[in-house]
Parts: sequence; structure tokens; C-alpha cells
Amino acid sequence: MGRALDHSSQMMNVSHNIFKDLKTMLEYYQTAGINSLPSVLPDIETGETGQQHDNDRLLKNLRDEIGDCKRCKLSKQRKNIVFGQGNPNARLMFIGEAPGKEEDIQSLPFVGEAGMLLTRLIEKMGLKRSDVYIANIIKCRPPMNRDPDADEIDACRAFIDKQIGIIRPEIIITLGRIALQSLTGNPDIRITAARGKFLEYKGIPVMPTFHPAYLLRNPGDKWKTWADAQKVMERLKQ
Ligand code: URA
Repeated sequence: MGRALDHSSQMMNVSHNIFKDLKTMLEYYQTAGINSLPSVLPDIETGETGQQHDNDRLLKNLRDEIGDCKRCKLSKQRKNIVFGQGNPNARLMFIGEAPGKEEDIQSLPFVGEAGMLLTRLIEKMGLKRSDVYIANIIKCRPPMNRDPDADEIDACRAFIDKQIGIIRPEIIITLGRIALQSLTGNPDIRITAARGKFLEYKGIPVMPTFHPAYLLRNPGDKWKTWADAQKVMERLKQ
């Protein structure tokens, strides 16, 4: 009995001390002018915040929501859905048009020839593919890589919006005409006129630039995309 009492009074002492320390700490913050604490504190071992886990989970839930999608006719010929790839907490997000042949096979965005050029651009920006998030407006390959039809864009539209909403990147780079026109909802906007100037989508700065497949065909314009990327890097530094 005596021992049990000893133990419980020791426990009370410990918790009393914890609360005392906590009170001292909060008073210290208050005198320093800090009146609230962040709701997401980093995991003591991994340094990850709850937010990071959350984005990962939310993206997985969204992928589940898409399921074995049959919302449009592209489902008939695709091999795989290409959802997106990269850091769920990316500061920078790239948005392309639709998967091509290699992407359809691997179920990953921008892994073909155009993808290799995009990877080189990302690395030239001092980043890795795993630092950024890459997705497309359309998640399934259009036959023969034709432009997606309006009804296909409409059927897929909500998913890129949800990806943007989850990741909330600081900047989006759109690659090519289709991504630019679809995201802005403006079918008249021209890539040659719009590229290199920041637009805004739901409060997020958007830098339109050329599609890497266009740059493979027109290498003389690569410097323009590099100039656009440098503007993005400048903004990310601010
Ligand atoms: N072109 C795109 O727009 N997206 C890809 O994923 C590959 C090529």
C-alpha cells in the first residue's frame, strides 16, 4: 500500500513538473509576443509535419476517387492512368497536357523524350524531379497523341484542380498551349503571347511556357523557356 502511494505521488510530481515547465514555456512565448502555436509541429524523429503526411494521404485518396476511370472515351484505349508524380508538398508544380506513349506504359508523367528535356530543365533550375510535382490536365493518353477533345478535358478537369488544391504550390508552370488554355479556361489565350509573364490561378502565380515536345521540334526557342524558368526561380527565392 505504502509503495503504491509512493508511486502515485511520484507520478503526480512528474506531471506537476511537466505542467510547470509547459506554463513557463508558454509564458516565455507570450512575453516574446507569440500568442498562438502552430497546429502542425514536426515529428520529433522524421522532422515531417502532419501537413506533409496529410497531402500524401489526400493525393492517395484522390487517386482512389479516380479509380478505374471510365468518365470519358479515352478510357477505351489507354493502358494506364497517369495521375501525377512528385513531392506532395512541392513549392513548384508543372502541368502538362496529357500522357504520351511512354507515360501510358509506365503510368508516370513526362518519362518519354519530352520528359527527359523537362527533367533537364528542372535540374538546370537547381532542383530534382522529386522536389517538384508533375501532372497533366488529362490523365489518359489520347490515341496517336492527338489534342484532347473538350469533353475529355471537362471530364478530367476536377482532378487537376483537386491536385492543385491539395499541394497548394507557390508557383505553377504550365507546359504548352493545352495546359495554359485548360487551366485558365480561356481558349483564345496564345502561348507565344502569354509565355514569360506571370498569370494567376486561384491566387497561385502561373508561368506559362512552351511544351518540351515543342522545344524538341524547335530547339532555337529553348532559351525562351529557360528565361521563363529563371523568372520562376527568382520568385521562389523571395
Ligand atoms: N506530354 C505531356 O503533356 N505530358 C506528359 O506526361 C508527357 C508528354
